Amino acid sequence: MALKNKINVKNTIVELDGDEMTRIMWEMTKEKLLTPYLDMDLEYYDLHIKHRDETEDQVTRAAAEAIQKHGIGVKCATITATQERVKEYDLKQETKSPNATIRSILDGTVFRAPIMVENIIPANRNWKKPIIIGRHAYGDVYANQEIRVSGPGRTELTFIPDDGSQPVTKVIHQFKGPGIVQGIHNTDASIRSFAAACFAYGYDRKVDVWFSAKDTISKTYDTNFKNIFEAEYESNWKAKYDAANLSFFYTLIDDVVARIMKTEGGVLWACKNYDGDVMSDMLASAYGSLALMTSVLVSPQGFFMYEAAHGTVQKHYYKHLKGEKTSTNPMAILFAWTGCLKKRGELDGTPDVSDFAAKLEEAALETIENGTMTGDLVKISTQGESAKAVFMEEFFDAVKARLESKL
Ligand code: NAP
Ligand code: MG
Repeated sequence: MALKNKINVKNTIVELDGDEMTRIMWEMTKEKLLTPYLDMDLEYYDLHIKHRDETEDQVTRAAAEAIQKHGIGVKCATITATQERVKEYDLKQETKSPNATIRSILDGTVFRAPIMVENIIPANRNWKKPIIIGRHAYGDVYANQEIRVSGPGRTELTFIPDDGSQPVTKVIHQFKGPGIVQGIHNTDASIRSFAAACFAYGYDRKVDVWFSAKDTISKTYDTNFKNIFEAEYESNWKAKYDAANLSFFYTLIDDVVARIMKTEGGVLWACKNYDGDVMSDMLASAYGSLALMTSVLVSPQGFFMYEAAHGTVQKHYYKHLKGEKTSTNPMAILFAWTGCLKKRGELDGTPDVSDFAAKLEEAALETIENGTMTGDLVKISTQGESAKAVFMEEFFDAVKARLESKL
């Protein structure tokens, strides 16, 4: 059934198409679950690896600029080129990671949140709601300099101001034998925009924000993170948070690691770069499956780009190319679309659009909760063997049938 009077999505959504199995699921999501019911104005950018290559990646930059113009985008997973991919797709060059390119244009932070279903229980039974991780994706050990110290000698840290004023030097260590030394940095501007993105997203999702560092030990470096978060909160967010009955909480990283185990979830945990790298993988695994992990890029100006956290599911795609049916899970892609539609509906003041997105999410969750799911979930579901592993198309059709019963 297609709706006679389709629901009108008022303003433009920027659509970024992608690669391999996710491209197949993308098309199917639109064809089966969106276009029969919605009248959407989609501004389409094809980020297929071949097209990025042909346009010297101009298409990726144009898509990011379109998100700045329209405020909201939704992105399919894309291949990050490697030498192997250059051969496989006969590319001219090894283009940069599209996600890195978009993130640098939007100056955004990536937030990951698990999709929770009743029959997939998190490894930690206290967690009843999602824990969202916001990872600062700039600097620290990811942009470091390291030296292997060969033997006795002095290592120093020096700052030489451009204005010609007196350099600052500190001795790191007087080595008596071989060892290692490392230099890392961050900037106030990047930390501030990270803090702003965290507060914007926490406010959007109506969850408390926790930020953790180790300021008791790192009295300048981590204390600077703490101070910037507190200043950003006080000047730009406290009044809004108070009004919405939300809060901001700073504590030591080890304290958060202990507390997070006891909470029921429903918080945004803002992490420094390394902490976020490690903790996001731990949470993804503890909540169940990469295919149930959503991801959204939020810019400090409040632009949003929704996507799945997983990649292009390459191995399934090769099966698909051989004509085999696969049991690939489209949940994270579906939720990227519903996340974007809910936001569009909210910004446009069109509750029927947000309402449609909510019904689609309900239909998908209920499908799994009633025992129809893809193979990756059957393995971890509490229903065990009694749950039915279906092929991807069948899963889509089951969700569609449920959705129609709600419209
Ligand atoms: P992946 O696509 O995330 O898949 C890794 C494995 O996880 C799959 O082989 C599959 O396991 C399982 N899996 C992931 N998503 C699934 C889903 N929706 N349904 C069922 N199973 C799922 O990672 P990858 O294979 O390492 O990377 C493939 C390509 O994706 C790479 O070219 C990489 O550059 C790109 N990538 C893109 C993004 C992005 O655009 N945001 C992110 C990460 C990676 P089984 O094979 O055991 O079934
Ligand atoms: Mg990691």
